[in-house]
Amino acid sequence: MTRFQPPSSFQPAAGELELLPLRFERLGDGRFIVSNLVGDLVTLSGLELGRITALDLDPASELYVLAAEKLLVMRKGQRAPLQLLAMRLRSRMTFLQHPSQLHILVATLRCEHSCPYCQVSRRSADRERYDMSWETAVKAIEVALSSPSRHIKLEFQGGEPLLNFELIERAVPHAKERAAAVGKEVEFVITTNLALLTDEILAFCRTHNVQLSTSLDGPADLHNRNRPRPGGNSHELATAGIRRAQVALGKDRVGALMTTTERSLGRVEEIVDEYLRLDLDGIFLRPLSPYGFAVKTKQFFKYGASDWLDFYERGLRYILKVNREGRNFPEFYAALLVRRMLTDRRVGYVDLRSPAGIGLGALVYNYDGKVFASDEGRMLAEMGDRTFELGDVEDASYASLILSDKLVDLVGASLTQCAPQCSTCAFEPHCGADPVYHHTTQNDPVGIKPLSEFCARQKGIMTLITRLLEDSPEDAAILRRWAA
Ligand code: SF4
Repeated sequence: MTRFQPPSSFQPAAGELELLPLRFERLGDGRFIVSNLVGDLVTLSGLELGRITALDLDPASELYVLAAEKLLVMRKGQRAPLQLLAMRLRSRMTFLQHPSQLHILVATLRCEHSCPYCQVSRRSADRERYDMSWETAVKAIEVALSSPSRHIKLEFQGGEPLLNFELIERAVPHAKERAAAVGKEVEFVITTNLALLTDEILAFCRTHNVQLSTSLDGPADLHNRNRPRPGGNSHELATAGIRRAQVALGKDRVGALMTTTERSLGRVEEIVDEYLRLDLDGIFLRPLSPYGFAVKTKQFFKYGASDWLDFYERGLRYILKVNREGRNFPEFYAALLVRRMLTDRRVGYVDLRSPAGIGLGALVYNYDGKVFASDEGRMLAEMGDRTFELGDVEDASYASLILSDKLVDLVGASLTQCAPQCSTCAFEPHCGADPVYHHTTQNDPVGIKPLSEFCARQKGIMTLITRLLEDSPEDAAILRRWAA
């Protein structure tokens, strides 16, 4: 008698299998990207996919082992694969247990720059009318601190928030005091073009551990054309500000964001080089958004999703080359997506979520006290569309804002899990609902995804990343490191 049973004794007979939920997309080279319920991705030939969906699998074959390991099939009546999927789905959705961590206070709508792609429709004058008052700031801080999250991030935006630094100077210590009184932690960010940065402001940021986030669109000529200001020296001031902040606060306390205009399209390598030259810790390649002056000045319409994807792919490949040569320098959007694709960890980024991050991820307190479900929602309000306005700090509470019929309807309507096209898309577990974008571009928070540039960009980037992970081991190792 043999002591051990052969492996086939432990494998089911062909008729005992059943399919688990799966979705697939064509890769364009005869292969398919196939994902399970929680978004584990695998590329298969048409023949292999056909055999899995038809359950035409020899239990002793490698294809069966792969399909079972990727949770695409299971033995009939088995409970363990379902329990594993349920547990992992719960982990991926834990962002819902940490609602509204980010609170954005628009300190002023005034700005001394006049960027044609400005998404917030800045104003140049009238301090009385466009600055947030102290009373409004105090009420906004109270609402922010009454959200259930223990850890709150307060971000001061504009316009140019340093034009109302007096408010920030009072609001930061006040928020710290109030947070301590209610047992919460609070951190601070100022989003600024750095043109008005002074030693006093830097000293304040050091004392209160305030982080700075700025805009840098690339080399001087490109940046200055994108971001005009009196004197034409936006780049000079921004780069000098970055250097000073790196010295005063530490390299990890200052970050920069770029916006891609039509003029940027052929220059992605130069843009990346500028970030490397300034010793920034990575870059976020960002397309223009359809809000504010970006629409009024028609900047938003000057390039489409395929131009953007060419730009992004060239940029990502160049950044990977820089990493292969020994410099650790992530592209932050790819890093976020790879983390979504390869782990079940909670991702804080509010745009890669369904239920959408509007309200549940962030609340925005405008200079006049009006509260919006997202930064883009307040940008839209400056264009006359108040769809994402939830209330006013004057009489609102956190609960009344989050449980408002308006927000519940918008979030419920935009779920990718059941939206047409998204619900059958292989990338759905890693994508995000963007109701503000789809409302703006298609007058529908769900969006008609085959016509959506957001969808085209998301699919393009996730397909590119999947190819790199599957076909290019050296690049895959770098992407995995970014996701760690
Ligand atoms: S928006 Fe597009 S890429 Fe994202 S889940 Fe929906 S169909 Fe897929």
